[in-house]
Amino acid sequence: MKWYSLVVTLFIWLALTVGVGAQGGQFESEAAVTFGQRIVFTLTAVTDEPLTTVTLTIQPTHFPPQTETVTPRQLGDGRWQAQYVLEPQAAGLPPFVTITYEWQVNTSSGETITIPAQTVAYQDDRFAWKKIEQAAAGTAVTIFWPGESDKPGRDAFVIAQQTAAQLQELLPLPAATPLPIFLYPSTADLRAALRLNGHDWAQGHTDPALGVVLVTAVNSKTAADDLRGPLPHEITHFWLYQAAGPHYADMPYWFKEGLAVWLASGDTYEATADSQSLTNLCRADPPADWEMAAAQSGTLVQFVDEQYGREALALLAAAFAQGADCETAVSSIMGQSVAELEASWLANTQPRPTAVRFVQQHGMWLLLLLAGFVLMGLLVMRPGGKN
Ligand SMILES: [Zn+2]
Repeated sequence: MKWYSLVVTLFIWLALTVGVGAQGGQFESEAAVTFGQRIVFTLTAVTDEPLTTVTLTIQPTHFPPQTETVTPRQLGDGRWQAQYVLEPQAAGLPPFVTITYEWQVNTSSGETITIPAQTVAYQDDRFAWKKIEQAAAGTAVTIFWPGESDKPGRDAFVIAQQTAAQLQELLPLPAATPLPIFLYPSTADLRAALRLNGHDWAQGHTDPALGVVLVTAVNSKTAADDLRGPLPHEITHFWLYQAAGPHYADMPYWFKEGLAVWLASGDTYEATADSQSLTNLCRADPPADWEMAAAQSGTLVQFVDEQYGREALALLAAAFAQGADCETAVSSIMGQSVAELEASWLANTQPRPTAVRFVQQHGMWLLLLLAGFVLMGLLVMRPGGKN
């Protein structure tokens, strides 16, 4: 072994052990997660100088930092331990949040040692997750799924990539925005993950403020089918929340739900006569008959896309993400009132009389048939004319 490779090896070894160490001793820091219950932060120190006080600063993403003072315990042989137990639910922390934490140690000689900051993800430890991390359409996608097969993760990645590309075109997110996706083996497991943390579904939706996409993929055989609708739908809600932040709550229902429904389905919708009024769908809260309202909203988004183009949808998305209300956004972008939009939407989506539909569907054949009759008529009439 050459001298420099020995130096490099020594350096790497030092970097690993000193990574959580510093002058004045050796320090080891770890955080252990029990999902739905606690996160235990433990600092172990080997030092000649007694430790007097230890503080732990915890900063969950999007939360203010909090500093806790911990009394160190002497374990003997110059070994000390400080431990802090965080109960996420009591602390009001959502599941799946990432926490940055940093220990500071004071020794009897008055020295202050700061252990480099580390992060821990408060994730569901009830499953052994497999993981794919890959960039897709400007986002940093991470997919977690349990089980032996790689297929659910790969299937999910393909769908996530397509959806992210469509959404990026409508409402761009900052480069490398993290897009974490968990594939639960059952809906019961998914809901248990939420309930363990004092959350739950509402109208089949997880709270997009959790900052993760949660969907169900039962096994490797069904994954692609299980995910085809729900994954683009949930990614859309996640995306709108990332773009709109606090304005997400005020977004018109027809837009945030309709976009998710429309992107999740290649189907075209047939609106029925008892359409929700658009004024109703302009409210942020889901209407009482939310399943019907969701389908109607999908139709409306599709109608806007077909009649006014992708740019109109993108402008609406940007306006709603900045907190514009329904009437203002529709009139400034589409040059009409909500009532006018509703009228043209209903005129275009209401079922037409059977005869009209028949002509629309079979127009070309009818035209050919008619042309045939005319030709025949001409042929029949011509000899008569000569007589
Ligand atoms: Zn939805």
